[in-house]
Amino acid sequence: MQRDHDIIIVGGGMVGAALAARLGQAGRRVGLIERGSAPQAPEGDFDLRISSLNKRSLDFIAASHTDLPLERTCAFRHIEVWNQEGSGHSLFSARDSDLEQFGLFIENVALQHALWQRLEAMPCVTLYTDTTIVSTLAGVDARMVELDSGQTLSAELVVGADGARSQLRELAGIGVLTHDYHQRAMIVNVETALPQQDVSWQCFTPTGPLAMLPLPGHRASLVWYDKEAATQAREALDDDALKAAIEAAFPKRLGGITRVNARASFPIKRQHAKRYTAKRLALIGDAAHVVHPLAGQGLNIGLHDADTLAELILSHTDAGDASALQRFEWQRRLANQAMIAATDSFHHLFTGVKPLRQLGDLSLHLAERLPFAKRMMMQQANGLNPFKWR
Ligand SMILES: Cc1cc2nc3c(=O)[nH]c(=O)nc-3n(C[C@H](O)[C@H](O)[C@H](O)COP(=O)(O)OP(=O)(O)OC[C@H]3O[C@@H](n4cnc5c(N)ncnc54)[C@H](O)[C@@H]3O)c2cc1C
Repeated sequence: MQRDHDIIIVGGGMVGAALAARLGQAGRRVGLIERGSAPQAPEGDFDLRISSLNKRSLDFIAASHTDLPLERTCAFRHIEVWNQEGSGHSLFSARDSDLEQFGLFIENVALQHALWQRLEAMPCVTLYTDTTIVSTLAGVDARMVELDSGQTLSAELVVGADGARSQLRELAGIGVLTHDYHQRAMIVNVETALPQQDVSWQCFTPTGPLAMLPLPGHRASLVWYDKEAATQAREALDDDALKAAIEAAFPKRLGGITRVNARASFPIKRQHAKRYTAKRLALIGDAAHVVHPLAGQGLNIGLHDADTLAELILSHTDAGDASALQRFEWQRRLANQAMIAATDSFHHLFTGVKPLRQLGDLSLHLAERLPFAKRMMMQQANGLNPFKWR
């Protein structure tokens, strides 16, 4: 049977586009279906949606020869975490993991745009924009998807990278387990009087963490986690009042804020698909899992899904090979479950009842004093094997 593509990917966000670029680089015929239009190059002020990319994610993106716009990224070499109401404090340095840097902070749109630029130069990749899928059906040798234009496409494998509300997941009848943390993350892009660009820090408080993600120049993306009502009240403040509220609540080391550039808030939820695979179908990224963003790992584990799936696809003649999909499910579910458990325990250890918060404080002391534990945590956070010492 003649198939339109080897692999169809639904969703051209950062994870779907990264998988398409890796497979296109290896010469696979890829169809990428995106509901929106092609992303535009960012310019001017930094966008609010910022993500960290760790070592494994950066290596995966580099494998597709995608050029990141380095002038809109900020490398960081240290991660500092402490507890506001106790004395627990941990400093992680890239050199302790034999790394030059931990990774990069990049605007989501800048990463997505760089990947699309790469895809547009690949003759074996077809981009279908401003369209979505309305049905899907698996046969013996291929899976078919029907677009809202009426066109049908077939491939050996269809991958869902269409985000937390994945339509492909729904059409395939795969359910999700969800949990609402009843918290919101308010993101505020600011300019600061002090330079603090090589460190990313997070201070735990009983109502939620306060985090600083560095951006190029004297810029930073601040994340203020709090209860829904408190966040909504803060959103109503004008820029001067918000600036004063940040300077009063955030750790003194942030220093003065010279400008508030932009702000928005997002609800914090956890979600996990009951299965990542079905016949000739796989889910990756937020379509498969949404984790608490406090560890900055949601995108990273999505890119690690794409990395594992690409490796399995490229080592099999049939992209939809059932045993390869089974391995994907097994490997990624284990890793993602561990990340969900870690972010969940951080949340409960620092925002739970007082005895739990004391335990959280102790865990930061222990992490600081046990070099092997610290190194294992950093290996895990970088997407590397935590049991590999050298
Ligand atoms: C406040 C906050 C801070 C975060 N910080 C970090 C961080 O520092 N580091 C990190 O690793 N992660 C972070 N994350 C998580 C990260 O943003 C997500 O994990 C990541 O965006 C998921 O990427 P994705 O490509 O899987 O999904 P999305 O980014 O949701 O992309 C899905 C794509 O599919 C398209 N689409 C949707 N439905 C359809 C359809 N039916 N048909 C066709 N196309 C469709 C959409 O238009 C979109 O382009 C954060 C999240 C939040 C909320």
